[in-house]
Amino acid sequence: MRFEISKVLDAIEGRVSTDPSMARAVVDLAEVIRWQDLDGGRPASLLRLGMVIDALSREVEEDSVPVYAIVHRALLSDADLTSNERMVVRRWADDGLVEVLDHPGDRMLEVADLLGLPVLSRVRFDGLGGRYPWLGQAGRVLAPVPGAGGPVFIAHVGGGQSPASGSRSPVGAKLLARQWRCPESGCALFGGGGGGAFADLARVDRAPAGQPPPSLRNGVPTCPRHGTRLGDAGPRPRTEVLAVRIGGLVRRRFVLTEAQPVLVGRAPDPSGGIVLGQWLNDETRRWISRSHVRFELRAGEVIVTDTSTNGSGVRPGGSMAEPDRIALAPQQSRVLGQADIVELYPGVQVARADDLHSDARFSPNSVMAEAPTMAMRLPRP
Ligand SMILES: [Zn+2]
Repeated sequence: MRFEISKVLDAIEGRVSTDPSMARAVVDLAEVIRWQDLDGGRPASLLRLGMVIDALSREVEEDSVPVYAIVHRALLSDADLTSNERMVVRRWADDGLVEVLDHPGDRMLEVADLLGLPVLSRVRFDGLGGRYPWLGQAGRVLAPVPGAGGPVFIAHVGGGQSPASGSRSPVGAKLLARQWRCPESGCALFGGGGGGAFADLARVDRAPAGQPPPSLRNGVPTCPRHGTRLGDAGPRPRTEVLAVRIGGLVRRRFVLTEAQPVLVGRAPDPSGGIVLGQWLNDETRRWISRSHVRFELRAGEVIVTDTSTNGSGVRPGGSMAEPDRIALAPQQSRVLGQADIVELYPGVQVARADDLHSDARFSPNSVMAEAPTMAMRLPRP
């Protein structure tokens, strides 16, 4: 039982991220864990985060959808959580997967504002519409409530029940064009320790492209964790977000930077590659090489190179008509054009995330698949 819960928490760990390119909604963890009516269980449970992530996944019809979690520091010693859950949240904090703050204030709304993300919360943010006008827009603030097959979303204002992303605020776009350094050594959010003598000892050497948005205090970019003024460490590397679709369902997204190519295949060798094995059936497994294609970002262009035994193909402009398919022979490269889809094998596709959508007939996998039934007393429909 304990082992199974650990497995669920590990799965949830893969769905928390402060990477602006990956997160799809913002939550306040202290709020989420206390939504007791979601499962009728303990006063506080970290598993509720998994239930909410599942609900988000169902709504956006994608697997592996990460949320940006703001964590009040008091949660790390919250006696209503199990010691295992507290340990897990501490690990997320140390790894910079969540933001742990002494005084979260309205950081959740700030992040949502800067990144243009929906907020999953039951709080009514009355009176804040002047500062954050998008609060009144459909789908920008959704309250997860119990539903027949797990939580569903209802809107406080603005109507709509599907989470809607906006665009990054002008300030957010400006902040995210730079990379930032926190002077506190080992800062999990803006790591690097400012290049001091002990910079090497910083626990987190975070990829600059994945840095969270700074907090703005009196117009000054500030570390939300330490309250210190952040140093400007130069332009943020350019990124492109790609997605993998297998069998009609978007399984995951990944970030491509100019710093490093990304290999995609059945089980690519170096770490950081995108492993497809878990989603492939026997037939596709035989066809798709361990490292099947390599993606690179050069001068803003996405270049795909076939590294497979059997070759792949490109669907120009996303056309699924057979005569349009362009074969990509082993070792051949090609610049990915507008809306082009790379096809490793029929039904196994990679493209820019905005160009790849799920076929609504399929349901995403649950992050709670390993959850013991005891902990999941879902209300009966
Ligand atoms: Zn810091």
